[in-house]
Amino acid sequence: MYNHNRQIKLINTFKEKACKVCGESQPHRLFWWPHHKMIRHYILRYGKKTSEYGKIKPLIKESTTICKNCESDINYAILINDDWDPRWPKKF
Ligand SMILES: [Zn+2]
Repeated sequence: MYNHNRQIKLINTFKEKACKVCGESQPHRLFWWPHHKMIRHYILRYGKKTSEYGKIKPLIKESTTICKNCESDINYAILINDDWDPRWPKKF
């Protein structure tokens, strides 16, 4: 249950956000690019009173919202070293 609530909390960070590339706005389909893994890790593992929790906000600020489909496109482009779509967030 604990983890379940934190997963919902992660999804709630996408409230009123949309994919910057295609406009997808379903929160459970969105990602924080490029820091999603770290943000997810901190939200799922650490409570509000820990110093790790404080790292979440700046990471979100540095990230762009994109959806799972566009994330797949970006990762694929990186994999095959394809051209960078100008609508995509900057490479990091
Ligand atoms: Zn998208």
